[in-house]
Amino acid sequence: MPKTLKKKAAKKAPAQKRAVAKKPATPKKIRYVYYFGDGKADGNGSMKPLLGGKGANLHEMTRIGLPVPPGFTITTEVCTYFYDNKKHYPPELEAQVASALAKIEKSVSKKLGDRANPLLLSVRSGARDSMPGMMDTILNLGMNDEVVEIVAEKSGNPRFAWDSYRRFLQMYGDVVMGVQKREGEDHEPFETVIEEVKHAAHVQKDTELSPDDLKTLVERFKQLIKERTGKTFPQDARQQLWGAIGAVFGSWNNDRAIVYRRKYGIPHEWGTAVNVQTMVFGNMGETSATGVAFTRDPATGEKVFYGEYLINAQGEDVVAGVRTPHPIAHLAKEMPAAHKELMKVRAILERHFKDMQDLEFTVEETRLYILQTRNGKRTGHAAVRIAVDMVGEKLITRKDAVRRIPADSLAHLLAPVFDRQSAKQAKKIGTGLAAGPGAACGRVVFNAEEAVVRSEKGEKVVLARIETSPEDLRGMIAAEGILTSRGGVSSHAALVARQMGKVCVCGATGIQIDYQKRTLSANGTTLSRGDYISIDGTAGEVFAGEVATAPSEIVQVLIDRSLDPKKSVTYQEYAKLMKWTDEFRRLGVRTNADTPEQVANAVAFGAEGIGLCRTEHMFFEGNRIDAMREMILAGTKDERARALAKLLPYQRNDFIGIFTALKGLPATIRFLDPPLHEFLPNDHAQQNELANKLGVAVEQIARRVHELHEFNPMLGHRGCRLGIVYPEISEMQARAIFEAAAEVQVQGIKVRPEIMIPLVGFPRELKLQIDIVRRVAGEVAKEKGTKFNYLVGTMIEIPRAALVADQIARDAEFFSFGTNDLTQTTLGMSRDDSGSFLPAYAELDIVESNPFASIDQKGVGRLMEITRDFGRKTRPNIKLGICGEHGGEPASVKFCHRLGLDYVSCSPFRIPIARLAAAQAALES
Ligand code: ADP
Ligand code: MG
Ligand code: MG
Repeated sequence: MPKTLKKKAAKKAPAQKRAVAKKPATPKKIRYVYYFGDGKADGNGSMKPLLGGKGANLHEMTRIGLPVPPGFTITTEVCTYFYDNKKHYPPELEAQVASALAKIEKSVSKKLGDRANPLLLSVRSGARDSMPGMMDTILNLGMNDEVVEIVAEKSGNPRFAWDSYRRFLQMYGDVVMGVQKREGEDHEPFETVIEEVKHAAHVQKDTELSPDDLKTLVERFKQLIKERTGKTFPQDARQQLWGAIGAVFGSWNNDRAIVYRRKYGIPHEWGTAVNVQTMVFGNMGETSATGVAFTRDPATGEKVFYGEYLINAQGEDVVAGVRTPHPIAHLAKEMPAAHKELMKVRAILERHFKDMQDLEFTVEETRLYILQTRNGKRTGHAAVRIAVDMVGEKLITRKDAVRRIPADSLAHLLAPVFDRQSAKQAKKIGTGLAAGPGAACGRVVFNAEEAVVRSEKGEKVVLARIETSPEDLRGMIAAEGILTSRGGVSSHAALVARQMGKVCVCGATGIQIDYQKRTLSANGTTLSRGDYISIDGTAGEVFAGEVATAPSEIVQVLIDRSLDPKKSVTYQEYAKLMKWTDEFRRLGVRTNADTPEQVANAVAFGAEGIGLCRTEHMFFEGNRIDAMREMILAGTKDERARALAKLLPYQRNDFIGIFTALKGLPATIRFLDPPLHEFLPNDHAQQNELANKLGVAVEQIARRVHELHEFNPMLGHRGCRLGIVYPEISEMQARAIFEAAAEVQVQGIKVRPEIMIPLVGFPRELKLQIDIVRRVAGEVAKEKGTKFNYLVGTMIEIPRAALVADQIARDAEFFSFGTNDLTQTTLGMSRDDSGSFLPAYAELDIVESNPFASIDQKGVGRLMEITRDFGRKTRPNIKLGICGEHGGEPASVKFCHRLGLDYVSCSPFRIPIARLAAAQAALES
């Protein structure tokens, strides 16, 4: 045996023995508390599920040598335990907390509640995914009547000591003891007291309060707590600590956190961790500061350091918008050393985390500390730009870039912007920070409830607030855009807008918002609630009235061809990304399109064919609708055939246009699908007009309309049931397709029709329709002396079709999942009527998401699996696709990839999203 191996073996043996011997005595101890400090950490950045995002990164930053104040993390498992056990903790927790606390005390040579050298702590929430501002944090814990005096003396800065104490009372009173705004109160009770004390002291700003004023404030706060709760504020530091820990765990289930989790699909079971950390102080005077920063611009993605800070401030001051912070560039002048240090940290963080970081820092008497970092939330524009740039900088690979960009963010890139000309003519009433790019126009409202109510009625609204808070979340979701008159780029409004991809202008300081009068005024213009307002989140501009929009640069390049691609950075980045997605994806992407124009657009976006061409859309234009109505009103087969003959040339021309635009790509064409009454006029005047046109009695028309009336049209005489009862309709459609194909083929363009029969449930339905198609194909081929390369298949959109897919596959050469109807029929839920109950279903967690937007994978998806397996049993190489709205929704696209479909099909503007989602799915598997 080689020496080294021997050594190892010898070393290992006793350890194993020990472990074996020990096991029966003590069951495995669960570790609930993880310490970090002095360059060492029990945890690391990969432990987000256990330590929460904030916690895991505090551990990671400690490991890589960044200046992080020491502390410890109580795991999310404790949160789960807490809720499972009537808000009790695991018995081991107390000892583990005590021992971690002792480590902090040793590290900083201070002690919690100590007379000589008191330690102050922050107690911070932090779930696996960041939920900004949704849960609670308490700073300056450990302060009490004695400690404040000691801190004042030791720091030689009584103002700082009393300011810290009053902040602690305020946070502890609110979060732990529940002293909050009551119904009917306009302001937080603590803020009201601050205003009173400031008024009495004749000062404007919090920072102007003298130590004596702050002492008064502390007394008043303690009184307020006593009055409101009947309890005295606890002086004992350990009692404070456990109170704070319990409150942070409790905040996991506050209303706004629950709303937030629902919106972002965060499971309620995850729980939050609690971070207990040594305080550092940005409020120690003019050489201290606190701030937030992004390593790149989170709105545009540009590689500039971006952020803001406040001198002599603490905690949430920067975000709260109480004072207007300075841009980070200013720090280079005010605190050059700290700024230099911060720039170093910026580089280290990006190199280490390989993503744009959002960080919190505090400068305590010129020394820099980093209190938090996380992957920064960003707009869709920034997501693309940052990822593409980072590939260029060799920080990440193409695969990383493709994986990282949320597929939906491409929708923001394609969204309209304000038309330049129109914006020039519009009345500009203010400017602010460009916090969420894009153009939004709507009626101005001044509170969240009204935004929700109006948007539920289908109105577009812009929510204008002095500043927003987490309570405004529902209103922000409902609004087209958000405007605030106060707050910087890291204010709540900006943060939320970035994340939701909302258009946002914040800190438009020239605009006065009056909540009482419900008006907004600036530059001599006053808008009342309900008036139109337009906000440009790309330029940070606000306009009175409605401003016209223009297509995004990508659309201008690809579709309108009005912009030179070399002149658009946005387009170039988009194009790079799209090229990469095509390298990775397996799933094909087709489009739902009914006109040559739509087809051309879709092909420009990268469509590889048509997945759904709805032929009925072709029957509504001009004279066609008359011929169509004539066909429907026909009493005999002959009359019907005559009317159909009039429709044939129209339909043939449509297909010629489409096949030409496709340039050889395949086209799935669906036979007539909707119930016939949809084509007939409903009111008397229109019926009269039609009667005159066709030279028939109006009664005849009225009677036919009446005959065609159905109680439940969705389940009525539609789909292939039309072609079964009126085979001449299918015959005409087949003829139009093949005659068009013959004509286009002559020009040397390949034509690949895939004829699709809708709403099939019985194998024989399909058989009968296919017989017609094949016969007509043969006839036309003979007439024109040509051959056709075509397929015939069916939609799978009712459960019976899925259940007998093996039999249907005998005739069908392809299946296309019509997931709109398949969802309606599987769930027995009408999409158009689901609005009255689906929101409640979502609130109660009955459905994970809207099944009409994202495939119900467990139900409808199960039927799709059955169909796939049955279909392949009969016909191993059967072509499988999807043509419902779901085909452009990222989660559904990924599901289709896992299912092994050949392609998804979606509307032209969703194609880039589907391509990206398909590539992501391929990289996930
Ligand atoms: P959130 O998740 O809402 O951002 P945080 O736990 O990050 O909550 O804390 C809120 C604020 O308090 C932040 O501005 C943070 O920088 C500050 N803060 C937290 N812990 C400390 C600390 N140990 N020393 C100084 N400031 C702190
Ligand atoms: Mg934070
Ligand atoms: Mg259908």
